[in-house]
Amino acid sequence: MTNRRRIARCVLACLMLAVAFPAASTQGAEMYLAASCTVGVSMALRCSTPHGKAAGYITATRQSSAPAQMSAQVNNLAKETPASPDEHAQQSQKRVTSYTLPHGTYAKARHLSRISFLLRVFLPFYQIALLALILRWGWSSKFRDWAEAASTRRIVQAAIYSSLFLLAFTLPQLPIAAWVHWLLRRYDLVIQGWASWFWDHIKTQFVITIIGTLVIAGLFRAIRRSPRRWWFYFWLGSIPVTLFFIFISPLVIDPLFNKFEPLQSHDPALVDSLERVVARAGLSIPPERMFWMNASAKVNFVNAYVTGIGASKRVVVWDTTIEKMTNPQILFVFGHEMGHYVLGHIPKGLGLLEALFFLLFYIGFRLSNRVLQKKSQAWQIRAPDDWASLPVYGGILLLLLFVATPLTNGMSRYFEHQADQYGLEVTHGITPDSGQVAAQSFQILGEIDMEDPAPNRLEIWWFWDHPWIGDRIKFALEYGPWSKGESPEFVK
Ligand SMILES: [Zn+2]
Repeated sequence: MTNRRRIARCVLACLMLAVAFPAASTQGAEMYLAASCTVGVSMALRCSTPHGKAAGYITATRQSSAPAQMSAQVNNLAKETPASPDEHAQQSQKRVTSYTLPHGTYAKARHLSRISFLLRVFLPFYQIALLALILRWGWSSKFRDWAEAASTRRIVQAAIYSSLFLLAFTLPQLPIAAWVHWLLRRYDLVIQGWASWFWDHIKTQFVITIIGTLVIAGLFRAIRRSPRRWWFYFWLGSIPVTLFFIFISPLVIDPLFNKFEPLQSHDPALVDSLERVVARAGLSIPPERMFWMNASAKVNFVNAYVTGIGASKRVVVWDTTIEKMTNPQILFVFGHEMGHYVLGHIPKGLGLLEALFFLLFYIGFRLSNRVLQKKSQAWQIRAPDDWASLPVYGGILLLLLFVATPLTNGMSRYFEHQADQYGLEVTHGITPDSGQVAAQSFQILGEIDMEDPAPNRLEIWWFWDHPWIGDRIKFALEYGPWSKGESPEFVK
């Protein structure tokens, strides 16, 4: 093999770490790595989920399970009025002036918000502490010894080391995830049974181990070959590898956790309505790229998102959304998602994230050198390219990502706000009273997700990747360039 090909291979593999670590850690990068966006399912407790989108562990009150085929009052595109519209259907069309929660939900939403905040602060440090213990107790060097004794082939060593290391890292986090699951089940936000929950964890562990093996093998190959510039090659490789994962995620990873079917086969009327919004934007998203997801098997909350890239790009609408919202409300949610698509938020987000990673990897490289110089003897690490040093790189990266959270979340909130504006513009003229319909959508999302009715601004600034729903409702009700004779910004 030529030298150049070797380097290319190593670069490609090592960049995968950039995917694996954030995926296994906290939110922030998750949105871009999963390349999905949710309109309302904002924050809460996502950090504890193995698979952000699948289990989205947020909040949702139990709504009427009756199929909410809602009345067509608001919109001529809506489905036919059901024979007996249920209570929820009327509820969902009440005029909204600000974000409010019924008394019983208010206290629960506040409680969830507090827990979510504590977890967001506590979890990264708990993870760093776990890594420190794995080093201090000599586990990392033991895993390396076993891996090296088992085989002389580097890739086999990487597989053995990363399986053991990832098990030691994720198992102590399982009780926290279980507690969160218990809490969300108690609040009726999640209905997934324990056996299914546990099975999801096993699958997640399996996926992380495969990706981890490749990433770790690549990383150490880069360190061995270029002790001074490995951080740069690692960063460079993270670009194609991240793109690759965004591409295969909806095709290979998402179906491991949820069932996807063509939206057309579940709700052809909705597809027709969506096509009208798509045409309004001058776009073409064929019905084959619109998917229905069976979320109601696991959760009660609602969601829709855009995912994938190139040939795998698609729009996904959860069945819970179709049940709990009217067609005009779904159109707004869809318009928001289209905003991300049209305004190029996935490539822009990736670009900004890669710029940030460039800086973080360099700082991480410098810091890890210092830590290894001081501690390698105590932790029985032979050199920077020793498998046993992995927890050092992981811990430093987690710490840096935590510090950078306000940056990534600030960018995310900005994109979300733009998508809200786009959703308002693209449904204007298609949906009568589109600002009010958008406000209703947010109210439903907030109620179902039990979004905090009075969040702390500092907390939003640091930890939230979506703007507060109260602010989004206010904006939806106030935004109206048309009445002022101005031209809308995105949809002319
Ligand atoms: Zn969004």
